[in-house]
Amino acid sequence: MPAQLIDGKALAAKVREEVAAEVEELGDVGLTTVLVGDDPASHVYITGKQKAATAVGIRANDLRLPGDIPQEELLELIAELNADDSVDGLLVQLPLPGHLDETKTIEAIDPAKDIDGLHPVNAGSLYLGRPRLVPATPLGIMRMLAEHRVEPKGARAVVVGRSNIVGKPIAHLLLQAHATVTICHSRTVDLQRHTLDADILVAAVGSLHVVAADMVKAGSTVIDVGMNRTEEGLFGDVDPGAAERAAYLTPVPGGVGPMTIAMVLKNTVTAARARRGLVSRAT
Ligand code: NAP
Repeated sequence: MPAQLIDGKALAAKVREEVAAEVEELGDVGLTTVLVGDDPASHVYITGKQKAATAVGIRANDLRLPGDIPQEELLELIAELNADDSVDGLLVQLPLPGHLDETKTIEAIDPAKDIDGLHPVNAGSLYLGRPRLVPATPLGIMRMLAEHRVEPKGARAVVVGRSNIVGKPIAHLLLQAHATVTICHSRTVDLQRHTLDADILVAAVGSLHVVAADMVKAGSTVIDVGMNRTEEGLFGDVDPGAAERAAYLTPVPGGVGPMTIAMVLKNTVTAARARRGLVSRAT
């Protein structure tokens, strides 16, 4: 039987409704996004986040800075936004132009407003098993698993990719949910040996169909994070033929992508709640 596709669009709509209700309850929630330069993909992402935020009632501020802004000026702006009480969530779109230091920039953001969850305080809290603000894509994946009652406890989970924004945080979330986790990367020898063992397989590589159909375990859940743009359209890291073996599969497009934006909004209300001393709602 072909895999059931996990509809990220529909679930994202549900999350956005939940966020809208929380925003109404909180009264006023502010998000500021910072885009440096004119990377076309970044423009699309920021416009998407801004639109989505406004649609759920978040007060969204869209700051666009020249691509040649000096590092010091960017850091000064971040310091101002950190001090501005009307800003609950602050996001600096990556990648930054080459002359800017991403680590310095991320570390300048107040961890309480770091809705990308990339500040060492947030990354470290996740590592220690006390997640605060967690990157949106992994949060969205956990919500997709929960929604489809895919139980990580006791499952063998394999994450392909070890980036700070997807691979490492999803591995930690799965570990905290009591999966037995293997992290694979570009130096992994015999990737298939690992993936074939996976009850839950997360592919976050950015390489077209790097996970072939015969690398997927029968009856498994396959989460395809990859976004590979080709002349024929947008494709994932997983060969669609995997649908013949997996029980659940996220499509590309329409899977993880829409959930990521929804969880950025969710993180903004999580930050707003924490800044007001309120307990966060479960994701
Ligand atoms: P990244 O920072 O480039 O990391 C890619 C990871 O894949 C690295 O850890 C790399 O290993 C590993 N890798 C590369 N080639 C491999 C191979 N042949 N076999 C096994 N592992 C390999 O990418 P990212 O930011 O995590 O993003 C990954 C993909 O997800 C991209 O397509 C990106 O566009 C997409 N993405 C989608 C969303 C969404 O919302 N849908 C969000 C974020 C990212 P090394 O560490 O050894 O180099």
